[in-house]
Amino acid sequence: SRDYIGFATLPEQVHRKSVKRGFDFTLLVVGESGLGKSTLINSLFLGDLYKERKVADVGERLEKTTQVEKKSMDIEERGVKLRLTIVDTPGFGDGINGEESWRACVNYVDEQFRQYFTDENGLNRRNLQDNRVHCCLYFIPPYGHGLRQIDLEFMRRLHRKVNIVPVIAKADTLTEAEVVKLKRQILADIEEHKIQIYQFPDCDSDEDEEFKTQDRELKACVPFAVVGSNTVLEVGGKKVRGRQYPWGVVEVENPKHSDFNKLRNMLITTHMQDLKDVTEDVHYENFRAQCISQISQ
Ligand code: GDP
Ligand code: MG
Repeated sequence: SRDYIGFATLPEQVHRKSVKRGFDFTLLVVGESGLGKSTLINSLFLGDLYKERKVADVGERLEKTTQVEKKSMDIEERGVKLRLTIVDTPGFGDGINGEESWRACVNYVDEQFRQYFTDENGLNRRNLQDNRVHCCLYFIPPYGHGLRQIDLEFMRRLHRKVNIVPVIAKADTLTEAEVVKLKRQILADIEEHKIQIYQFPDCDSDEDEEFKTQDRELKACVPFAVVGSNTVLEVGGKKVRGRQYPWGVVEVENPKHSDFNKLRNMLITTHMQDLKDVTEDVHYENFRAQCISQISQ
């Protein structure tokens, strides 16, 4: 099993100040109910956080998320502190309609900005806690032919407030060819409807070839096709998270089976700082500008 996550390389990307204080990072997960949001979060890094939750035997059912649920964990890795917060939201479907669902998300994001704005202008500026949402994983169903009205609506409500990273849920239910086709259609829909998803920064020209290749591969993956599972299976004597099928096991962390590793690596190691920077410089700045123009009216 994995004994560290990989964020210890973050100090190379930031100021000494944040190294000492630690990093705050908040991830919001949204999308239709039943797409595997809670399962993926669990698979990504929060095994521990959900420990108190009942995960029913082999059926592996999670309790349904009925309200915005926030879980934080402080992790320390080679002297670097990270406070990781996951905000799991009730997806639409199952009694919650699309509008209730996106409103809950928008309110959550705005509320964190408002709190930060208040704190930043208050007396306790030195110990600002950053609860702003730095990234939003948007779950797209694998069984459709691209983005639905409800997905477009959701993204439109959120794209000027938060870094949206689209993911194709339950990619194990699709063939490789179907994944390729769906990715292409989703990107076309995003472009046609002028949705601003998170843009990976350009790679520095002085990076080495290996880095550039990795960067290209990462960008080519969007939207990430993911598989989640809370079941640990044995494959070739190794314990892995996976999903058992009559014809074999789909391994969550096997790059041939899903983009799970790329997504986790991107979030936690290579692009965490950029996600924070864009949140600060673009999304929060928009919010701040609105607050200030309202005050001065
Ligand atoms: P949520 O409502 O989006 O949080 O979805 P859950 O995480 O509660 O998962 C709903 C159901 O889908 C559960 O039965 C999971 O076992 C199943 N599930 C979760 N992730 C995957 C996946 O990647 N592939 C498949 N085939 N099923 C999944
Ligand atoms: Mg859930």
